[in-house]
Amino acid sequence: MPKDIKSIVIASHNEGKVREIRSLLDPYGYKIISAKKLGINEPIENGMTFSENSLIKSRNAAKKSGLVALADDSGLCVNSLNYRPGIYSARWAGKNKDFGMAMKKIQKLMEKNDLLSKYNRRAFFVCSLSVYFPDGKNKVFNGRVNGHLQFPPKGMNGFGYDPIFVAKGYRKTFGEMNFHYKERISHRNIAFKKLIKFLKD
Ligand code: IMP
Repeated sequence: MPKDIKSIVIASHNEGKVREIRSLLDPYGYKIISAKKLGINEPIENGMTFSENSLIKSRNAAKKSGLVALADDSGLCVNSLNYRPGIYSARWAGKNKDFGMAMKKIQKLMEKNDLLSKYNRRAFFVCSLSVYFPDGKNKVFNGRVNGHLQFPPKGMNGFGYDPIFVAKGYRKTFGEMNFHYKERISHRNIAFKKLIKFLKD
């Protein structure tokens, strides 16, 4: 695969994600450009899996920019809710991206179905990171972090569902952890390490 890469387009309009991806790529000397800055639209994510949606985004950005593109499709899966919201994690927050509402929706669903024991609160974050080259070659890397949900939401750091997620072996929610601490253990970092190994090998 072509690997002499200088610039990478981040195929996301989600500022929380772009910030984390920038920070993870920072040590490697690539010029990072956001798709939003290049005026590249967000394509319709009609895949059935995280990997499919990730590739839809990276393909769109690579074709439109002529550059190597990186996309992240990620989400929260709650075991006792049949792994929902899953690929619909962003959509559960609605047009206004109201994650306070989305977290309440999860809490209410779990309360209604008597799913508040720690066992039933088991959940995991998934990140499917894809790299797409202008010549059509591509590859997907996955990362996952297990944990459980905690209500009410706690912490103002991070984004999305961070205030209700506690990673296995930790007490603080991702929303309470500082940026670099979360970065070290996150699903995104796990996928990233695989990507960097691929780009550098
Ligand atoms: P998408 O990948 O753009 O479809 O959006 C995934 C959604 O999953 C985000 O908008 C967040 O709500 C959620 N999500 C993904 N990764 C994280 C994370 O690290 N913390 C909190 N929420 C996340």
